[in-house]
Amino acid sequence: MLGFVLGLAGAATAQGNGRSQNDLPVATDARLEQSGDTVRLTMALSRPLEVSASVMAGPDRVVIDMPSTNFQVQPAAARKSAGFVGAFRFGLFTADKARIIIDLTHPAIVAKAESRPMRGGFGELVIELRRATRAEFQAAVAKTPPDADAATAVPVPPKPAGETRQTVVIDPGHGGIDPGAVVASITEKSVVLAFGTTLKEELEQSGRYRVLMTRDDDRFVPLAERVGIARAAGADLFISIHADSLTQAQEVRGATVYTGSERATDAEAARLAAKENQADAVAGLDASEDTQDVAGILMDLAKRETRTFSAVFARNLVEKLGGSVKMHKVPLRSAGFRVLSAPDVPSVLIELGYMSSPKDAELLNSAEWRTKAVAAVATAVDGYFSAARAPVGKAAANQR
Ligand SMILES: [Zn+2]
Repeated sequence: MLGFVLGLAGAATAQGNGRSQNDLPVATDARLEQSGDTVRLTMALSRPLEVSASVMAGPDRVVIDMPSTNFQVQPAAARKSAGFVGAFRFGLFTADKARIIIDLTHPAIVAKAESRPMRGGFGELVIELRRATRAEFQAAVAKTPPDADAATAVPVPPKPAGETRQTVVIDPGHGGIDPGAVVASITEKSVVLAFGTTLKEELEQSGRYRVLMTRDDDRFVPLAERVGIARAAGADLFISIHADSLTQAQEVRGATVYTGSERATDAEAARLAAKENQADAVAGLDASEDTQDVAGILMDLAKRETRTFSAVFARNLVEKLGGSVKMHKVPLRSAGFRVLSAPDVPSVLIELGYMSSPKDAELLNSAEWRTKAVAAVATAVDGYFSAARAPVGKAAANQR
């Protein structure tokens, strides 16, 4: 028997969003154990709850759905492996659903997925996976129902009539079940949420902008929905916030600004876009339909005007950011990021730095650095909208 304890009661808690975390069931003490052809994942629950399990291929994984749960399990601990399980993740999937994703390094099927009542009103989550052949796995995949929740869009307030302020949509990457890059106990999803929230406050303070966020708490938002939010909001500018990580090169540092293009400027940009485009798959969304609309994305990207404005803003950003924080040696690049595919909204993606660099990680976590970088981004936004060559904007267009 090979086993180890992952749980840490009272460690990382889910981020609050107004809904009381106290009402949610709490999961602690995650254990991953291998015994022969079986791998078991167990968690202690504050009360029994309803769970269901399914399998998905490409990448091969097991998806456990359950009601919103407060996971008090360290994200880094969940990256441990056992037998054919490479790692597992957990987090909010929609407002009222949580998910555990178990990555498989060899095909397996779900032998048991239950939450059993324990003494004192507590519960225990038991997921038992059995090593299987590729054919058995595929047969199980075929039984998985399509993901209905993926389509549920967050209601977005349309631009109010007579609104003359420019609309800026801030997009903190990842969230919920998808932590993004994880280095030690720092997750990309929390670094970029803190940055996005501060940027929103800064922009709103000027009174010149209507600012919306694609997420303002620790939840998962599919990539297409982020683009959808920007378009539905009638955004004049879309800013996606991320933080990169390179396991093999701790010395690589600095911020980079990306725009969307079907052809990447370099291999590094292509690698990053491929990684960021995986976000939906990481959260257990079926990525098969993603490949179908690649042609659509390329067509959309052909919208020349939008692309020109994106480039103008990106150059502005590099200049202003470069005046206050360390930039990557090639600070302005482009690649095929799905989240930058709105045909009618100038969009950029900022990689704030490398979480894999101890120096950058320290800065990304510091309020002082954040204040400086946020001020620089806000100045770039001001510059973009006040420059004579800036787009007339939808505010003006709407008045025609
Ligand atoms: Zn990211």
